[in-house]
Amino acid sequence: MEHPARPSIADCPECPALKATWWEATIEGDPFKAGDALVAVRRHWRSHMAEGTLG
Ligand SMILES: [Zn+2]
Repeated sequence: MEHPARPSIADCPECPALKATWWEATIEGDPFKAGDALVAVRRHWRSHMAEGTLG
């Protein structure tokens, strides 16, 4: 049985959404928001790595 419905990075809708949030904060010049968003991106990426869903 495969793990249910964990998308690969290529199919993942969260990756571009998280990156967009980070980019928006960067453009806004809000270092706290950008920092939080970057942490969220990294944590999310790590979850992909941990589950071996690199596509
Ligand atoms: Zn993702």
